Amino acid sequence: MQHAERNVPFYRARFADYGIRAADVKDLGDFQRVPILTKDDVVANVDGLLVGAGRPLLTRKATGGSTGERTVFYRDAESMARNFAHVLRNHTWTGLTLGDEHCLLWGAHFDLKAQQRLANRVVNFCLKQRYLDAFHMSRGSMGGYLDRLRRWRPALLSSYVTAATTLVDHICESGLPRLEIPAVATSAEVLFPEARAKIRATLGAQVFDRVGCREIGNTAHECDAHDGLHVNAEHTVMEIVDDGGGAVAAGTEGAVLYTSLGNDVFPLIRYRVGDYGTAAGSATCVCGRGLPKVRGLRGRVTDMLVTANGTKVHGEYFSHLFYDSASVLEFRVVQESLREIVVWLRLRPEARALSGEEDGRLRRAFVAMFGPEVQLEIRVVDDIPKTASGKHRFTESRVSTGAL
Ligand SMILES: [Zn+2]
Repeated sequence: MQHAERNVPFYRARFADYGIRAADVKDLGDFQRVPILTKDDVVANVDGLLVGAGRPLLTRKATGGSTGERTVFYRDAESMARNFAHVLRNHTWTGLTLGDEHCLLWGAHFDLKAQQRLANRVVNFCLKQRYLDAFHMSRGSMGGYLDRLRRWRPALLSSYVTAATTLVDHICESGLPRLEIPAVATSAEVLFPEARAKIRATLGAQVFDRVGCREIGNTAHECDAHDGLHVNAEHTVMEIVDDGGGAVAAGTEGAVLYTSLGNDVFPLIRYRVGDYGTAAGSATCVCGRGLPKVRGLRGRVTDMLVTANGTKVHGEYFSHLFYDSASVLEFRVVQESLREIVVWLRLRPEARALSGEEDGRLRRAFVAMFGPEVQLEIRVVDDIPKTASGKHRFTESRVSTGAL
């Protein structure tokens, strides 16, 4: 708070507007007087939030716009290193000992730039991490994934929820012998009880839920008591609040706010990320960890899309398409049929229409994934229609996979 007040122009002005002085904030009760930072605020004030521009190892990143506003933000080397430490700690909560085989059914890994790829290869070698591509899950490729999993015998499989359930469905439908994996950690989507039960029944795995956001990293992870998630509290303050920004009572659902600790270059204070969770109260967990807990996290929901040859494409593929977009704020992809996809886009106010260049890039990416016969309709709108459930279902497929 003191750093933000002294050094960050956006907070200096905002604290003055609200009559807030960092020196007066002595506990979490005082902290609740600090106004909530919305994605709109971040979009409109990137320059006012950034301090230390030009500092070495400063990384510019963006969210993809799957939960509302697509935001640009910055992280410094300390923030990245702290997050990495939390990721490694969270892995050990699943029973993995550093040095055990770890497999990731993931997508982000595949579009890294050359320099990042080299760094990643070193990290992956040291940590015995190997990747399977969640953006191309066909019957053929999944057969290969299962062969590799049997050979690698990972102690932990990290996966998007629907990528793990797609693999598990494939095992069940093809009558393949059971595959044993001790632990599966899922993230990036809501882990519904049915998905957890299905993964557990087929792989014999303990399933661990994990949440986070690109702006901060891993924020909370389930322990082996499987009764809520522990917050990585050394790295993040996680609050569950009502509409007025006050803490909700234990057992009550509210909006998730994050405050990043240790990213001085772009501090996020009481940042509303778009997820919801239930306050867990202060009772100590039976696992013995003293870290605070949250329950019932509810963020994004996604459908796998299907190509004409039956390959399933995880929704994160589309998030990646928009990380570098100059004009897209929010997106939703709806697959109406095997050959018909509608992309809903909300643009930045100053961008009246999608540029020819971006339109072309988007169409090429869809053709590369779904083939030249796919009909892509891009609808630029002021408000993207919400699904009936009100959930952030950023990809939706109306294709019955039984028909394939
Ligand atoms: Zn615990």
